[in-house]
Amino acid sequence: MDCPTARLLLLFYRPGRTSDLAQDDLSSLESHLQTCPACSASLAKQASAQAAIAKMIVDVPIPSQLKTQLHAQVTAKLSALWRAKWLARATATAAMATFGVLSYSAYLAVNRPTLDTESLTYSIETAMESPERNALDWLTAEQLMDKLPEDFDLRFVRFAGKRDLQGVSVNVLQLDSPNARQIAWVYFLAPGQFRTAKAPDSLSASNATTRIYRELPGGWTVVVTFTGNDLRPFLRSAGLTT
Ligand SMILES: [Zn+2]
Repeated sequence: MDCPTARLLLLFYRPGRTSDLAQDDLSSLESHLQTCPACSASLAKQASAQAAIAKMIVDVPIPSQLKTQLHAQVTAKLSALWRAKWLARATATAAMATFGVLSYSAYLAVNRPTLDTESLTYSIETAMESPERNALDWLTAEQLMDKLPEDFDLRFVRFAGKRDLQGVSVNVLQLDSPNARQIAWVYFLAPGQFRTAKAPDSLSASNATTRIYRELPGGWTVVVTFTGNDLRPFLRSAGLTT
C-alpha cells in the first residue's frame, strides 16, 4: 500500500474498534502502518485530535442562557448590518431631499397661486348672507344631501368644508343655533374611513352629546357632536323666524 492510499483509509480507521474498512483494506493498512513512520505519526496525530474533540463534546458546559445569547448575538449583528445599510441609504436620501427642496421651492416660486382677496371677501359675505344656499351648494357638490340623518335647519350652518377629525380630514357642517346658543358639528365619514363598530350610538357628557348614524346611503356614517343633550334646537322644527 502506498502512503496516499494509507492516509485516505486512515480517515476511516479506529484502532481497537470496529472499522468501516473492508477486512482486506484493514490488513493492508495495518501492515503499512507498521513499516511507515510518517503514516504512523499521522495516525497518532489523528487519534489525539479525535480524542480532544470527543473530550470537548463531553466537557462543554451548555450555558443556561445559550439560546437567548445566540439570539442576541445574531440580532446585534443583523441590526449592525441594517444600521450600515440604512445610514448609506439615509445619506443618499438626504442629498436627494436637499436637492429636491431647492428645486421644489423654485418650482413653487414660479407656480404659487395668486391670492384672490376679492373672491375671498365675496365668499364669506355669501356664507353670512345666505348660509342655507351656501350649505345646499356644498352638500350637493360633495354629494352629501342624502346623507343628512336629521332635518337640520341649514340656515344655522356657519361652516361647510373639510376639517380634521382625530387626524383624518373629513367633510363637516358646523351649525350654530341662535336660539339656544349651541353648536353642532356634523361629520360625514366615508365608508371605511374610521372604525366605528365599537363606538356607542350615543354618548352624553354633562353638557355635550355625540350621536352616530350608521348605514346611511352608500355605506356612510354620520357623527353629530353638539352642545347640550337635545338636538332639536338645530332642526327645522325648531321654528326659527327670520
Ligand atoms: Zn505511509
